[in-house]
Order: sequence, then C-alpha cells, then structure tokens
Amino acid sequence: MAKKIQAIRGMNDTLPEQTPVWQKLESLIRQTVSSYGYSEIRMPIVESTHLFKRSIGEVTDIVEKEMYTFEDRNGDSLTLRPEGTASCVRAGNEHGLLYNQERRMWYIGPMFRHERPQKGRYRQFHQVGIETFGIASADIDAEVILLSARLWKALGIEEHVELQLNSLGSNEERNAYKAKLVEFLQQHEDKLDEDSKRRMLTNPLRVLDSKNEAVQAILVDAPKLSDYFGDETAEHFAKVQAYLDAAGIKYVINEKIVRGLDYYNRTVFEWVTSSLGAQGTICAGGRYDGLVEQLGGKATPAVGFAMGLERIILMLETLELNADVKPDVDIYSILVGEGTDVAGFKVAEQIRDQLPELKMMHHCGAGNFKKQMKRADKSGAKIALIIGESELESGCVTIKDLHSNSEQQTIAIDSLIKVLPTYFA
Ligand code: ATP
Ligand code: MG
Repeated sequence: MAKKIQAIRGMNDTLPEQTPVWQKLESLIRQTVSSYGYSEIRMPIVESTHLFKRSIGEVTDIVEKEMYTFEDRNGDSLTLRPEGTASCVRAGNEHGLLYNQERRMWYIGPMFRHERPQKGRYRQFHQVGIETFGIASADIDAEVILLSARLWKALGIEEHVELQLNSLGSNEERNAYKAKLVEFLQQHEDKLDEDSKRRMLTNPLRVLDSKNEAVQAILVDAPKLSDYFGDETAEHFAKVQAYLDAAGIKYVINEKIVRGLDYYNRTVFEWVTSSLGAQGTICAGGRYDGLVEQLGGKATPAVGFAMGLERIILMLETLELNADVKPDVDIYSILVGEGTDVAGFKVAEQIRDQLPELKMMHHCGAGNFKKQMKRADKSGAKIALIIGESELESGCVTIKDLHSNSEQQTIAIDSLIKVLPTYFA
C-alpha cells in the first residue's frame, strides 16, 4: 500500500461526528449577531503581506514569528491571514464602506498562525469577529461586549467565563507612559528575562503580560498606565463600565491586558475561562480608532472583537454541553426485491418534496434485508421505510420505528406524507 499522506501539523479535520456541535455554535452565532443588526462580510483568506505588517505591527508576535508568508508565481509576497480585522478594514476602505458612515459587520472563517500546536492552539483555527466603524462613543464599546455576553448565555457557558477589562488610553497617553515604563524597566534590567529585555526595546507594553513570575514581581512597583489618562480617556472608560453595570455584566479590571496587536487604543477586553488550562482566552477585542486611517482611509473610530471557535468548542465538550445534537438522518429506506429500488427513489423524492424538514436517506447498493436494517440503525434514523415485494404490489410502505418497540405499520404510499410527521412530533 502507498504511504498515507497526513494533514499539516496543527491543521485539523472536522469529522462528521464533530460537525453538529460546530453547526450548533455557528447557528447560535448567526442568530446572535443578527439580533444586533450586524451584516456579514466575507474576505479572501490570502492578502498582501504589507497589510498585516502595517496593521498588526512589525514587532508583534504574529508578524515576527507566526505568519504563513510566501511568494506567489509573480514574486508578490502574500500571507495567509492570521486574523480578520486588517482584512475587514482593507475591504471597507477599498469599497467605500467606511467613509462617513456607521457600519456593524461580522465575519467567520479560518485564520493561520505558525505556532506550537497544543490544546486550544492550532495553526489553522477559526474565528468569528465583529467590527464596528464610525462610532466614537462608549456605548458601542459596551454593545460589542453585550453581544458576546449574550452568546455565552445562549451557549450555556456564562458561568464559566470572566470578562477582563482595561483601557490602553490614547496614543499620546500611551507614549508618555511607555517612556516612563522603559525607564523603570531599565532600572531593573538585570532581573528581566531575555524575552522581556527584548520587548522592553521593541514593544515595552508587552512586558506587562509576561508569564514570568520574577518579572511580574518587579512589575508590582512599575508605573501604571491609568495614571497617565487624561479626562476624556478616564470618562470614556467610566462610561463603558457604567453601561456594563446597567446591563448587569460582571467584569474585573485587569491592567495587565495590553493585547498582542499594535492597533488598539482605549477599551480592550478579554473573555477568559479557567476550564481550558493555559489557552484560556476565548474572545478578545477592543477599540482601534487609528487603524482605518493607518490603512489609507479617512480617520474612523472602530471597535471589535475576535473569538476563537476551537476554544469555545473545547469548552462545550469539557462542560458536556454538546449532548443535544440531532442525527444527520431521520428516515432510511429499505428496499428488498425486484423493482423496489425504483419505487424507493420515487418515494424518497416525494418525501423530500413535501417534507423538506425531514432528512431522508435512500438505501443504495441493494443487499438483503438484514444488511439494510443494519445500515438504517447505523445511520441514526428514527424510521425505517420498508418496501418489499408485497408492498410494491399493493402500493404500500411499511414504517418501522427504530427508536421504540411500537408495532410497525403498513400504509398506502398516498397517506405517507400525512403519517410520517406524526413520528417526529
Ligand atoms: P493567545 O494569547 O492565546 O495567543 P492572541 O492574543 O494571540 O491569543 P487574538 O489574536 O486576540 O489572540 O485572537 C482572538 C482569539 O482567537 C483568541 O482569544 C483565541 O480564542 C483565538 N486564537 C488565537 N490564536 C489561536 C490559535 N493559534 N489557535 C486557536 N485559537 C486561537
Ligand atoms: Mg497568540
């Protein structure tokens, strides 16, 4: 036998047994975003490399270490998208969607990052993101958070997630703070690890979310970003909190949340769970008022988030919340005897015409009664629809309920459309 070819490490197949829970999640997401009036946008998976360098930032983990970048046959540098915000802004600018107007959009799809694969961390993973444009006030910051909270409720995981909130201030406030932070870090440079030393020079805020305990111990005495907030930033942040309070959304302020991407300002947030181990952030987002202009558009305020679907699925599995998944087949036909295959096709098509909500699988490949019954059982179908020679002669079908011990019944084909739904009531 030829050697089997395997999938790329960190890029997963979603198998038929797993897709129902994905579909359930996706349908709850669609329902939730549309209940807030958001419109779906679909962007390409491949973009020009410049787009991500210019938006996410040259000295971020994503751009430095994680992008799948390659030259195409024209010699252009292309990248498999590591996230959706940059593409969404690019598309918005390109098609004039953001110019002097408000937009609320969402997307779903695969993202690619060359990371070390582990539970909750993959090289191809899926995000749902929402992005809002043209609204500068704090109510929209609260709205995107409310939208995510509503989804956790719909999924039944609201007790298992915590909202962590922070403000990164304006660019000016952050830059003033960065200078002070670097000064402080330089005084303690001998106690910093290599990673933090490097970040101190390239992206000092990232030192704040270092996982190293010794570094965290030093940071206890570090200057605080919030001490550099002007009135506007402080007021904006207070309003976001007031809206969340009014809506009954609990949160904790975590001044260590700085986000790995360069484009955020003011409100940032993460939804975190302790039920997944180290990969505990299931949704992250915030305000990015500078990005539209940075990518060539007119200055436009913006807020959004991205959630990692694999981590949410893992949560649903861990909490055993994926049990009510319906089978792919409701009715399976069993066809024994000359001519019953043709009759069976007809009946199956008639059912699909008139009862499109039922899932009808027609048996293909003939075989004896026992073999076909086994197939019917394996399909998960509730009903076996049996057409044998006697049924064929009399224009009837036999209905057998595979999920209960009730008597099977033989009825005229003409009354099938009336009778079948009673089995699924
Ligand atoms: P992390 O700190 O876990 O690396 P991040 O800050 O890089 O996350 P974002 O870029 O903000 O993540 O992406 C938003 C969400 O997408 C994350 O909160 C997470 O749920 C999910 N996500 C990010 N990277 C991965 C990955 N490699 N595999 C699976 N999900 C991911
Ligand atoms: Mg990451």
